[in-house]
Amino acid sequence: MTVSRKQTGPVLGCIADDFTGATDLANMLVRGGMRTVQTIGVPGTPDAADADAVVVALKSRTMDAADAVAQALAALAWLRAQGCRQFFFKYCSTFDSTDAGNIGPVTDALLDALNELPGSDFTIACPAFPENGRTVYHGHLFVGDVLLNESGMQNHPLTPMTDPNLVRVLQRQTHSKVGLVRYEAVTKGPAAARAALDALRAERVRIAIADAACDADLYALGEACADLALVTGGSGVALGLPANFRRAGLLAQAEQAGRLPGVDGPAVVLAGSASRATNAQVAAWRVDKPSFRIDPLALARGEALVEQAVAFAHGHFNGAQPQPVLIYATTTPEEVQAVQHELGVAQAGQLVEQALATVARELRTLGVRKFVVAGGETSGAVVQALGVQSLRIGAQIDPGVPATVSTDDTPIALALKSGNFGTVDFFSKALKHLDGVVS
Ligand code: ADP
Repeated sequence: MTVSRKQTGPVLGCIADDFTGATDLANMLVRGGMRTVQTIGVPGTPDAADADAVVVALKSRTMDAADAVAQALAALAWLRAQGCRQFFFKYCSTFDSTDAGNIGPVTDALLDALNELPGSDFTIACPAFPENGRTVYHGHLFVGDVLLNESGMQNHPLTPMTDPNLVRVLQRQTHSKVGLVRYEAVTKGPAAARAALDALRAERVRIAIADAACDADLYALGEACADLALVTGGSGVALGLPANFRRAGLLAQAEQAGRLPGVDGPAVVLAGSASRATNAQVAAWRVDKPSFRIDPLALARGEALVEQAVAFAHGHFNGAQPQPVLIYATTTPEEVQAVQHELGVAQAGQLVEQALATVARELRTLGVRKFVVAGGETSGAVVQALGVQSLRIGAQIDPGVPATVSTDDTPIALALKSGNFGTVDFFSKALKHLDGVVS
């Protein structure tokens, strides 16, 4: 980065393959002092956001690779028109993908599209997020103490991860040569990491999985990537990016990067994730708080569960002692499998997502202004149903999950959680945070 004056408008343009992933990245950038706005899909307007970073949230993780590529390229074109000078492709810290994509195909297409920019011959792929237990060592992704394929991710409804070796996983998705930035280099700091990147480039590696086991590794990698046109990874690797822009004189001091406007009104929790952490959070909530279960098989039989869920929630927040409720489809991997067997994977997912999205829309009509949502795909469906177009990103609730407020005329406060994120009491904690967002 050679320009050394503060520019107005965003400098970092990010493309995320799902909604909660986008929020997680935006959270990281706010913590680094960048004022950040997240847009839901590619905005229809040409306006530059009043922010240092913009994250375009797609819902492309599990769509056909060709469609995911088309959406990523549309997002890139919009971000370039805003004046962004570096780009980031964000995917899940558990590398959620299949052999058909979409991490490899989208990365290739973005590099191709940026090919006239310096630093566009090469990028890294680093899903490490040590704060959340995701580390990469010699190309192998760990979730906590276990390898990816023993972490529960092998049972994911849409992107089962059965191979922990990311060099192998990514190489199956791309014709580009995939390499490895080894831990031994990363841990020595930015200069050694940069030398490792240059060595890989010389070997004609185009995408390199990068090892990282702690935040210091991510800061080193971030600094080593300052001159790349494109960086790819989980939100962790974005830790080191704000400092690059600050060093280049492209950021104003932003102590209050996460300040949010006030929102007041009733709240609800919606859970459509079947991940291990969400299962624990649902169980913890249900010990002493009201909840309503959405059973996909009953939905498929045409039972009026959506109407019942809305009435249940309304009864509670409208009662003498207003109380938020949980509406959930969350269940064990065995039961998800049984449902998928009966309905088909895509149809089961869609049915649940649409049911929760409709519940959200109806509840907003009834006055609900605060939504805690568990599940990446589920969050995507909910914000779409609510017609939310962009979010200003606020303070962190748990690693990877900030409070947010929509930028509409009638602002809505949202906490959007990727399935495996958050402590066991996340739902209550998130509601308290959103209650803090009061005008
Ligand atoms: P995560 O962030 O945990 O991956 P997502 O919302 O992205 O959560 O994905 C979970 C998928 O599983 C969604 O498509 C959701 O509709 C589906 N799902 C949730 N509960 C059930 C269930 N009980 N039976 C079948 N599918 C389910």
